[in-house]
Amino acid sequence: MRKPFIAGNWKMHKTIEEAVSLVRALKKELANVEGCDVAVCPPFVTLPAVREALEGSDIGLGAQNVHWEDEGAFTGEVSPLMLVGLCDYVIIGHSERRNVFGETDEWINKKVHAALAHSLKPIICVGESLEQNRAGETEPFVGGQVRAAFEGITAAQAKLVTMAYEQIWAIGTGLAATGEDANEIIGSAVRGTLADLYGDDVAQTMRVQYGGSVKPQNVAEFLSQPEIDGALVGGASLKAPDFSEIVKKGLAAHLKQ
Ligand code: PEP
Repeated sequence: MRKPFIAGNWKMHKTIEEAVSLVRALKKELANVEGCDVAVCPPFVTLPAVREALEGSDIGLGAQNVHWEDEGAFTGEVSPLMLVGLCDYVIIGHSERRNVFGETDEWINKKVHAALAHSLKPIICVGESLEQNRAGETEPFVGGQVRAAFEGITAAQAKLVTMAYEQIWAIGTGLAATGEDANEIIGSAVRGTLADLYGDDVAQTMRVQYGGSVKPQNVAEFLSQPEIDGALVGGASLKAPDFSEIVKKGLAAHLKQ
């Protein structure tokens, strides 16, 4: 059985003070939770303070983005070298990066290579738009995103990656997919493509999260599905009681399978 993994994507929220107070509360609420990997992904500027506040806890830390070069004339960017020793994970290819900031599949692949070269574990986001879903293009589109992200990545490296399947219209809208739908798409377009690339044995070891309006009220619907190994949580990760409840309910639903 794959160990569940629930990560909070704080997006562009929380000052340093607010971030520290949120993780202090999470440390308390999640102190006795075992059997689930948990991580928070705050904005870059709060990472050092959050890292310090997380000392003595099993909660992992991730960045929300990374450039692929170690250094250079890239105003406003943060390099993988700068994240070494600070973060365990890095989110790559979130739909907001793809759609608001114009990140391409090629960039995302470069970022995956750079992250792995610096021992940062990527959480790679894929997912289709509502139009693509309605047009029946989900499987080829999401499968294509997976193939592009893993170009030139070895099987040994792939095992370090977590995938996050997020339907774009479900992010931040309250319109989550059904557990069955998400399970089916993850099985075919995400894990199915990974199995084509690396074989079933490797694909079966890789964790795939669902993301898109996951809340304490619906997390069990997703984490009780056989193909879903966790959640990438946006809005509901900003409040300690909500995120802790998601972790606890998600883990319980996963263990019941
Ligand atoms: C996300 O940011 O990846 C996300 C899934 O957001 P939300 O949970 O708010 O839909």
